[in-house]
Amino acid sequence: MTDVRGKKVAVAGITFESNSFAPGLTYMDAFERYLLVEGPEVLTAGFGKDEIGGAVSVAKELGIELVPVFAADGGCGPTVNDETYEYLKKELFSKLSKVLDSVDGVYLRLHGAMTAESYEDVEGDLIESLRAIVGPDFPIAVSCDFHGHFTEKMAKSTALIAGYQTCPHIDFFETGARAMRLMAAALAHEKTPTLSYRKTKLMASSEGHDTTFGPMRAVLDRLHEIEKMPGVLDATVFCTQPWLEVTELGWSALVVTEDDPELGQKLADELAMMMWDRREAVLFRKEKVADVIAEVNASEPSARPFVLAEGADSPSAGSQGDSNYLLKHLLENPINGAVYMTLTDEVVAKKCFEAGVGGEVTSEIGGTLSPVFFTPVEVTGEVITLCDGIYQSKYPSKMFNSGPTAVLKVNDIYIVVTSKPAFMLDYQLYLRVGLDVTAAKAVQVKSAGSYRAYYSPLAFKCIDFASPGSSDSRLPKLPFTKPRRPLWPFDLDIVDPWY
Ligand SMILES: [Zn+2]
Repeated sequence: MTDVRGKKVAVAGITFESNSFAPGLTYMDAFERYLLVEGPEVLTAGFGKDEIGGAVSVAKELGIELVPVFAADGGCGPTVNDETYEYLKKELFSKLSKVLDSVDGVYLRLHGAMTAESYEDVEGDLIESLRAIVGPDFPIAVSCDFHGHFTEKMAKSTALIAGYQTCPHIDFFETGARAMRLMAAALAHEKTPTLSYRKTKLMASSEGHDTTFGPMRAVLDRLHEIEKMPGVLDATVFCTQPWLEVTELGWSALVVTEDDPELGQKLADELAMMMWDRREAVLFRKEKVADVIAEVNASEPSARPFVLAEGADSPSAGSQGDSNYLLKHLLENPINGAVYMTLTDEVVAKKCFEAGVGGEVTSEIGGTLSPVFFTPVEVTGEVITLCDGIYQSKYPSKMFNSGPTAVLKVNDIYIVVTSKPAFMLDYQLYLRVGLDVTAAKAVQVKSAGSYRAYYSPLAFKCIDFASPGSSDSRLPKLPFTKPRRPLWPFDLDIVDPWY
């Protein structure tokens, strides 16, 4: 490869994963709470373990100088309010415009499934807007989540797209590194990196996306073979965030070649067909909560912890975390032993702080943010812990703030009441409030599949149970109106699997 030493690349990004069915809108406070940095901090906020960490590592290896500009991350949640997105976009472009004349390329760390009220495709809008400023030949490299919503607008605006290749996601660093290698390939000005892709009429809930044990594993195994082929620079499959009200919904396969669109299309089609062929297998079926409780209670006392996953209220899928579905069932039909659970309820957290540690709280709890799915239930319990809700999350690697957080003990149920929705992909929140998850009989985890990276190694058994919510795995139960049809699993008699 031509020497790219001394080339300069600006680093910026806006990251968010929308859930169209989560009630309400997301405002600036979500980004202020999660990540909003400029200058050198852009490169270090992920403790070197995120996509930007990977980009930094490759840039160092190749002698590329990075120019950190701006990074905002709001995590996941309801659709972003237009004003918030437009403000963030303006910030990004005003800071980027100051360095554009002095850099040879731009690396954007994006998610891929961000929507705002009037923007179905935020990433497409950002890349297209940047392309309009920099002209057709300027390299723009992009990294996305495995759950990216890949669109034609993105494809038309850049060929340098790398998405995660794992679910649960454990390759943040590697994805940023791949994006920077694509950037280097473009900067080298030899064979033009060329994107080929295929969009399928396929969707499935996140629980079916598992690349470690699930049906997608074989697809990723083949993808890794493809990546090593002569003439291939990179490959990605997007198992798109399922809870999106957007027109171009559907999984995609992408292959970036050294200017060989024929080879790229053949390989993208092969990956897309492998995904389509697994459409029955990726339809995930969950247990009924009553059966789960019975199974836990029938187990030996030493069998613990059962990890009970409530994916339909997963904050890392954009839900609000305010489901009291399991709590209601346990109040009527208890599990024998300690159960840990989380629940977003700012009002109850406040009441716990007013009562103080050792105080008693009687209150309605749950369903305050998503009343369309849950109704409050009354509980009486003892406040056993209070904290500021700030902790270092390992997955994803960043500081997290769930706001004032309390543990309310109701019988043998330890409810971690957070003021803001908290990601539960690891057990750092439980640790923060002094709860050792291995000591519980059962631990509820509000996550749609991705929790398994951290919880599987310590769980006696992981069980996903069915419940309502804005990240319900039963997609046809949700009020989708925008996706073009036919689309699996809304339509089961599809003849041509491609768009
Ligand atoms: Zn994801």
